[in-house]
Amino acid sequence: MKILITGGSGLVGYGLKQIITNNDDNEYIYLSSKDCDLTDLIQTINMFEKIKPDYVIHLAAYVGGLFKNMNSKVEMYEKNTMINLNVLKCCHDYGIKKLVSCLSTCIFPDKTTYPIDETMLHNGHPHCSNDAYAYAKRMLEIQSKAYQEQYDDNFICIIPTNIYGENDNFSLEDGHVVPSLIHKCYLAKQKGDKFIVKGTGKPLRQFIYSQDLAKLLKWVLESYHEKESIILSVSEEDEVSIKDIATLIAKEFDYEHRMEFDSSYSDGQFKKTADNSKLMSLNSEFKFTSIEIGIKKSIRWFNDNYDNCRK
Ligand code: NAP
Ligand code: GDP
Repeated sequence: MKILITGGSGLVGYGLKQIITNNDDNEYIYLSSKDCDLTDLIQTINMFEKIKPDYVIHLAAYVGGLFKNMNSKVEMYEKNTMINLNVLKCCHDYGIKKLVSCLSTCIFPDKTTYPIDETMLHNGHPHCSNDAYAYAKRMLEIQSKAYQEQYDDNFICIIPTNIYGENDNFSLEDGHVVPSLIHKCYLAKQKGDKFIVKGTGKPLRQFIYSQDLAKLLKWVLESYHEKESIILSVSEEDEVSIKDIATLIAKEFDYEHRMEFDSSYSDGQFKKTADNSKLMSLNSEFKFTSIEIGIKKSIRWFNDNYDNCRK
């Protein structure tokens, strides 16, 4: 079977490359924006015509951390909407057997009860910091459901929490919190500067290691047969604060004593605690990588790939 992975050059795409073994009989095609700009319908059609995939894992998106979401709302909305319109249309037109697309727990309502579960996605406005990204992603779920209902297409969505790992985007300004802080702590130590963490450090997050998510994505493609979206997350007990994660990173660099918070920056949504009971009821044997091990591996990869990584 030919499995096309859009966004194959990103964080999660790299995770998939790491966990797929040589004795896997499928052919995996990892796409980057250099192969095809998915905001362009003609390019997208030409790519599907050339590759003719059987299955699609749709990861491609215009993505970034809290501050990129706040500063690039137009691109967040327009690029993501265009990518999703084109990819789903082509998946339908080319008779894809199963499409797995990627949402995020950060697109759930801001004012909600906790933990959030799969049924609560459209129950209220998302947090104002990322509303443009959130509504574009929510429409991906609506579009998938429309294809399911009208054409019986096997188009489903997964909902991961914050992801981190090797080949992340380590940009200081645009990255998510883990890669940004790894890069920032590395530079602070090199220059002997303070290690500044944005916001108060109080918000709570569930982090999933990219290779764990990749294993779960493969499980969803092969073994999850429901039509409803599924949250892919560590348990509620494994939720940590931004201060916890920053401390873990600083300890790895042996630079904890210089860590400071700058509360003039936004905290974003306080928490988005997700319920992983649906996942665990269907895949109870799954073991998550501990955050300590995942952070160690990410920092090692960053150090080893400093010159060439995205930053
Ligand atoms: P990433 O590392 O930023 O990678 C994004 C991927 O999308 C890259 O392969 C990029 O290609 C591709 N892409 C972007 N614009 C494109 C375009 N116009 N045409 C074709 N390809 C394009 O993202 P990620 O963290 O792996 O995210 C994967 C999925 O998980 C996304 O759908 C994201 O919304 C979702 N998600 C991410 C997080 C997180 O914390 N990172 C959390 C929840 C959900 P290039 O390499 O060529 O730029
Ligand atoms: P979110 O989980 O969708 O909000 O996205 P992020 O991964 O960007 O995490 C944002 C949280 O981390 C907020 O509470 C920020 O205040 C905090 N944070 C602390 N330092 C940084 C940083 O350097 N970059 C980012 N993106 N967030 C940071």
